[in-house]
Amino acid sequence: MQGICLLGATGSIGQSTLDVIAQHPDQFKLVNASAHSSVKKMAEICHRFLPERVVMGSAEACDELRELCSGLDVSIEWGDQALESIAAQDGVDQVMAAIMGFAGLKPTLSAIRAGKRILLANKESLVTAGQLFMNEVKKHGAVLLPIDSEHNAIYQSLPQTATGAVKKDVAKIILTASGGPFRSWSLEDMKSVTPEQACNHPNWSMGQKISIDSASLMNKGLELIEACWLFDVTPDDVEVVVHPESIVHSMVSYLDGSVIAQMGNPDMKIPIAYGMTWPNRVTTQVPPLNLVEIGCLNFEAPDLQRFPNLDLAAKAWYLGGTAMAILNAANEVAVAAFLQKKIGFLDIARVNERVLFGMNIDPVESLNVVFQADLSTREFAHHVIAQGDF
Ligand code: NAD
Ligand code: MG
Repeated sequence: MQGICLLGATGSIGQSTLDVIAQHPDQFKLVNASAHSSVKKMAEICHRFLPERVVMGSAEACDELRELCSGLDVSIEWGDQALESIAAQDGVDQVMAAIMGFAGLKPTLSAIRAGKRILLANKESLVTAGQLFMNEVKKHGAVLLPIDSEHNAIYQSLPQTATGAVKKDVAKIILTASGGPFRSWSLEDMKSVTPEQACNHPNWSMGQKISIDSASLMNKGLELIEACWLFDVTPDDVEVVVHPESIVHSMVSYLDGSVIAQMGNPDMKIPIAYGMTWPNRVTTQVPPLNLVEIGCLNFEAPDLQRFPNLDLAAKAWYLGGTAMAILNAANEVAVAAFLQKKIGFLDIARVNERVLFGMNIDPVESLNVVFQADLSTREFAHHVIAQGDF
């Protein structure tokens, strides 16, 4: 029986993780869970899964949840320290890191330091803390399994056994992208995109922020950096290929010309279950892939003119240091401003570029440097947006 701590339980990844737990109650038990403000959803989770501890984002949310959970034997807490504590607790074997954005970094690090199995959905934490994050994983003997579908696919396609192929046989990683809802739109049409249109992803049902990132290709940019940290490569070793059907989740190309791909219907329960059961597998109730019905798989190059965020991410990687934390923080602020209709869709990449090249980039010597970079970038990005200076 594996004890699960689910960070971000009320989100899209959280829901899919709960589905997998519910399908295999003999293998998994929800021990702890967190959410920011979705009290009703969390109350339902408490009644259904009976976790020991639950952490919310505020005292108010905590009070409301207590009322809805009276009679249940669950400890309801709030705040950063409680969040870090539930991720490191005894009895928790696996931590699903599914909080949205940079806010996920601290509790994920706490889980790493406690040597848990980390199921990493929260790409922003790895993108921003990079080498320090990976160093902590090594130092504490934590097992890090990528949940992002592309990275999960790459993980599955890489050499896994001591007797088989080794990493030096890998020629390159092929990272697939759906292209998002505006893949074939003109720049002119993209000017007036609304948040509702941007959140309407053609293949995946996801949280708001990652949906916008997918539409602007910032998600692929973050994933490019994520792949570099996870698999110890550079952006030059990774080719991004747009694949609108989202059936091939990514590939590894070998020196001899072989390409190994992982395929499946676009449903996050597949990579989530893989992470939870690795190196074994369980059923997921995702319908089997019907290639005859799909008929045709398409591939095309990304258009960096219409989607400059992808290139910005590669640049941030090569700039190094805090550049990736800066780009991430700029993007989080820009996406929030777009959702509030303060800036247009194409302005997201403009703000990102203005902020990335307007900040000092420092070497990442400690986590403190990362948190400081995040904070000062947010201030600067708010200023840039308020002044229309992008
Ligand atoms: P979501 O918006 O649906 O859910 C986010 C969860 O995080 C919620 O439970 C929310 O309560 C919590 N949260 C939000 N802000 C918080 C804060 N400041 N402090 C603490 N908790 C907070 O997001 P999602 O789509 O489930 O994505 C979660 C993470 O997984 C993101 O990093 C995303 O990039 C990554 N991811 C998602 C998918 C997907 O299909 N949804 C795929 C790959 C990776
Ligand atoms: Mg992905």
